Amino acid sequence: MTGADLCRTNEGVWPLPGDLRKAVHQRGEPGSFLEDRGDRRHCGVDIYAPQGSQVVSITDGLVFDVGVFTEPGEVPYWKKTFYVVVQGDGGLFVKYAELGVVDVRAGESIRSGERLGRVGSVLDPEKIDDLAPGYIRRLQEEGKVSMLHLELYRSLPEPSDLYRGGNWFGTGEPGGLIDPTRLLAAISKR
Ligand SMILES: [Zn+2]
Repeated sequence: MTGADLCRTNEGVWPLPGDLRKAVHQRGEPGSFLEDRGDRRHCGVDIYAPQGSQVVSITDGLVFDVGVFTEPGEVPYWKKTFYVVVQGDGGLFVKYAELGVVDVRAGESIRSGERLGRVGSVLDPEKIDDLAPGYIRRLQEEGKVSMLHLELYRSLPEPSDLYRGGNWFGTGEPGGLIDPTRLLAAISKR
């Protein structure tokens, strides 16, 4: 099953109801799927949004997992954020990350358009210095310190030290990962 199939079998709602631009970064752009960040590649798509923006499920499904996504103890310029994984009725897993507030628990069923939580502020501008990766310093300069980071999976990979903060530090990419660009682009046109 592909992202396009998920789209056909489910209603499909833009994950940020307050975001009327519905811009999807295309491959190669900053914040896009598999963006090359030098020592790491981006596992999802970033949708920049103000802290506190509502995040809703794009599909009907089940809340599969909720947890901590980033913590300042791991990387100094990170703030604490959370993730929610929803298994859509079509079988695919959608990971909504860099949330500041989570409103659901694992095991709950969820409808498309229902709130999962709110966008957090993943980057701490005061802690970003010259040692931070270039893409982080650019985000700070552009004031893009809060966003929804969204990943799509056919199956969830085993936990790995190579996966940190939505980036993959190994060769290739995490098993089961799918490009969400086309799915989001299709949803954005509804
Ligand atoms: Zn991201």
